[in-house]
Amino acid sequence: MNRTNYIFVTGGVASSLGKGIISASLAKLLQARGYKVTIQKLDPYINVDPGTLNPYEHGECYVTIDGAETDLDLGHYERFTNQPTTQANNVTTGRIYSEVINKERRGDYLGETVQIIPHITDEIKNRIKLLGNEGDFDFVITEIGGTVGDIESLPFVEAVRQLKWEMGNQALVVHLTLIPYLAAAGELKTKPTQNSVKQLLQLGVQPDILVCRTEHHLNINIRNKIAQFCNVETTSVIESIDTETIYNVPILMKEEGLDTEVLRKLNIKDNKKAVFTQWNNFLKRLKNPTHEVNIGLIGKYVELKDSYKSILESFIHAGAKNLCKVNIQMISSETINEDNLNDSLKKLDGILVAPGFGNRGIEGKILAIKYARENKIPFLGICLGMQCAVIEFARNVLGKEDANSTEMNARTKFPVIDIMDEQKDIHNLGGTMRLGGYKCQLSKDSNAYKSYNKEIVTERHRHRYEFNNIYRNEYINAGMKVTGTNPKRDLVEIIEIENHPWFVGVQFHPEYSSTVANPHPLFVGFIKAAKEKTKL
Ligand code: GLN
Repeated sequence: MNRTNYIFVTGGVASSLGKGIISASLAKLLQARGYKVTIQKLDPYINVDPGTLNPYEHGECYVTIDGAETDLDLGHYERFTNQPTTQANNVTTGRIYSEVINKERRGDYLGETVQIIPHITDEIKNRIKLLGNEGDFDFVITEIGGTVGDIESLPFVEAVRQLKWEMGNQALVVHLTLIPYLAAAGELKTKPTQNSVKQLLQLGVQPDILVCRTEHHLNINIRNKIAQFCNVETTSVIESIDTETIYNVPILMKEEGLDTEVLRKLNIKDNKKAVFTQWNNFLKRLKNPTHEVNIGLIGKYVELKDSYKSILESFIHAGAKNLCKVNIQMISSETINEDNLNDSLKKLDGILVAPGFGNRGIEGKILAIKYARENKIPFLGICLGMQCAVIEFARNVLGKEDANSTEMNARTKFPVIDIMDEQKDIHNLGGTMRLGGYKCQLSKDSNAYKSYNKEIVTERHRHRYEFNNIYRNEYINAGMKVTGTNPKRDLVEIIEIENHPWFVGVQFHPEYSSTVANPHPLFVGFIKAAKEKTKL
């Protein structure tokens, strides 16, 4: 196609309806027809990026290959489309304002009064159009975070209004709403949807397609009613029924005709057949497991599943690959102690120790690792999880009782994990870590190599501290192998333990790059090892 089409996805009635999943599903449907698609998330909060946000706020911080700390929805986009996203795919109010204020300070506005309209909205519009201009995409899908009616999202909705006007039939708006079911009345209610469309209309935006989240099927009468009240065609009322896995959503959207409706509204000939073989194969494997494993996810944000979103999704991909149902037990590292250790962990076929920052829960993580090491339970340690494995080994095998990371104890006698020199003078917290993709060279004689089947891999990072190379030989002599290193700077990226079926700690984050099409090799290897353990 020789033009880029812009699809805006807004949300009404309530938050958490799954705009990210709908956007990713639509992208998948268009991609399956052979179109080039990218997805962007606009977040109305004032943080420049989510890097400094506590996971309790908006869930995990997702990291792109170019080192951007972004919203977790970008993870869904990548997992569904198997295409990398970049900094340009996530824009926050904070980023827009800091750019406009920088321009104002430089004098770029030549004495004008700088205002929300047009300066802020122009900056938003530029960020949207930039993706289309740069990427040679047939479709740019832009998801507007928040719910229509929020004060914060007003400039974004205004930018959508202007773009829709400028672009004519090159742009359309998909509005996601909720049709609640009132059990007492035994009825589905359309009024909240009508009201949220009215709110959009007040802002000058007529949605073209309504995607309606619902717990019960929408019959034709309800569809007609919604259509009539909201100025859309009945075929543009798309049902999005609750389903047991998010990976069903593209198929459900296809059955409802979301993609054909989008093409029709944009006047694009519907002449490409969608190819869904790979996705359907994945679903078939996911739904027909022959084995089952119990994995403990040891972390400190276990009350909120979104904090470990990418890890949980990686397990789903790796489970399907292994035809294995993966039951995840979230275990708070703060609750683990010497007395309950055995009871908490004895039923597990694999232990994953999660990434994290700061001291809280660290000793529980170290105890869980000791248990995995001594009882030969398959273990995967990610980032802080790997660092804890290094600390555990120092304390319990190398006999360095006080060993620690200088993040946890700046005065430890044995700083086996230490801050990198170039990080020492940094005082700002935002965007100042070792971030994004770095190469890692694997040694052939390792479980890591067996999983990847490659000598050089690129993996995403997000941390300040590193394995302290001063101690490297002591570790190797005592049976902890260094099986992956950064070829340029000789930093330790992967550690493993001899005489253990599968004990792998990685300084990087494999979970950010696991997708439906390419489940991450380390998660696949880890689940395979857990599966082997169940057979013993
Ligand atoms: N807190 C550790 C560091 O900064 C680990 C970070 C992480 O697990 N992402 O190095």
